[in-house]
Amino acid sequence: MLEDNSRCSPQYTDSLPDFGTGKKRGTFWIHTYGCQMNVHDSEIYSGQLRRLGLVPAETPEQADVILLNTCSVREKAEEKLFSELGRLRRLRELDEARRQAGKEPVRIGVTGCIAQQRGEQIIERESSVDFVLGTRAIRALPSVLDALADGQEAQVVTEDFIDFDASDADRLDRVRAFVTIMEGCNNYCSFCIVPTTRGLEVYRTGDEIIDEVRGLSIRGYREVTLLGQNVNSWTDKSTGLDFPGLLRRLDEELAGDIAGVERVRFLTSHPKDLSPALIEEMGRCSKIAKHLHLPVQSGSDRILQEMNRHYTRRDYLQIVERLRGTVEGVGLSTDLIVGFPGETDKDFEATLELIREVDYDSFYSFEYSPRPDTAALSYDDTLPPEIKRQRLVELQELQRDIQARKNREWEGQTVEVLVDSFSRKTRDDVSGRTSSNQIVNFTGDRKLIGILVDVEITRSGAHSLYGEIRSHSR
Ligand code: SF4
Repeated sequence: MLEDNSRCSPQYTDSLPDFGTGKKRGTFWIHTYGCQMNVHDSEIYSGQLRRLGLVPAETPEQADVILLNTCSVREKAEEKLFSELGRLRRLRELDEARRQAGKEPVRIGVTGCIAQQRGEQIIERESSVDFVLGTRAIRALPSVLDALADGQEAQVVTEDFIDFDASDADRLDRVRAFVTIMEGCNNYCSFCIVPTTRGLEVYRTGDEIIDEVRGLSIRGYREVTLLGQNVNSWTDKSTGLDFPGLLRRLDEELAGDIAGVERVRFLTSHPKDLSPALIEEMGRCSKIAKHLHLPVQSGSDRILQEMNRHYTRRDYLQIVERLRGTVEGVGLSTDLIVGFPGETDKDFEATLELIREVDYDSFYSFEYSPRPDTAALSYDDTLPPEIKRQRLVELQELQRDIQARKNREWEGQTVEVLVDSFSRKTRDDVSGRTSSNQIVNFTGDRKLIGILVDVEITRSGAHSLYGEIRSHSR
């Protein structure tokens, strides 16, 4: 699930930077691209910078340290990065004035997937970059800033520094928190760059994960999302605990927390690793949210094989059947790619049929575009762009109709909603989600944020539901 997560922090102070003398002062600005794992990595970067004494700036022009936390999954990701770096280059013109004012030059860093993938080449191409930190080198940020303050050359760190501790993360949300349970992926889907940019799978221990979730619960967080590229393959090497077992342990640990974590979500699942045991735990555990994001990518067995996904359409449909038979009211979402190399009209029709059959609550869909360093790059990608676009439009129209119908079915029902924010449109309304991940908006004020409430659905839209509060739960 990808987004362009722009991030401009609300506070700005014009205090002077004082790098290299122990506690630093100054400001920072982070722009985050990509998935929830990148968003959480940015929270950890932000936490480290705050510990160094820096505070968020509103714009890059006001910042002493700038981070571009990149994602290489989207099309033209590198071009976008370098055009952003080109815009930031003009800040170098201020370096002399900063020096005369006793300040260090602005520090510009590239982090995340493109940083891991391209390393040194980023600085060779764009000399205004001061440092590059790979996906497993997040914790190297303070020492890199110190080295630059000591006058050392541009820094590139792409080796392993994996440290799952997120206790100093500067979390964006006060209701929902991300908890990383693993890094990397072993799957090598032919369209995906992640095993190269994030490396092979490394798992955090069960005790560490449970401690972090308990800590968040005690601090009043109401929901956690366990993060990993393929959470179903998570295992604690020392105890043999598997992912369904981890969910069960979390459910037991959180059972007595009245004002703490009410819902545990997880992202992302891979159909080939999703076991019947996981579905059983989802059905049984009251603290595990009744929602599964299960990327299918295509409805055609031939294309699934070309994608190196290791399941068939039938396998996938069997999982869906078991899930719906076991987890009452479960919400289901997916990711889809259209126009994969060699996708025929028949393959595409198979995808449309699968969408009709599964009846998803929501989905994310993308046109295939080749990515560097992936197996599919060598496949014959001869499908004209207009066909890919046309297929995407058709797919999205079908899903829009399904979603509108499914959303209408909620009208008149009363659902439990965890309120997490103001609504996007007005501060007179608040917004939250059901356990099954439906977004619900209704009139309410700040006091409701973080509270579970019962809401009667009075109206439905294309992507969300609208209602009226009936009672507070807890
Ligand atoms: S499972 Fe496939 S798509 Fe998901 S991160 Fe791993 S390689 Fe990429």
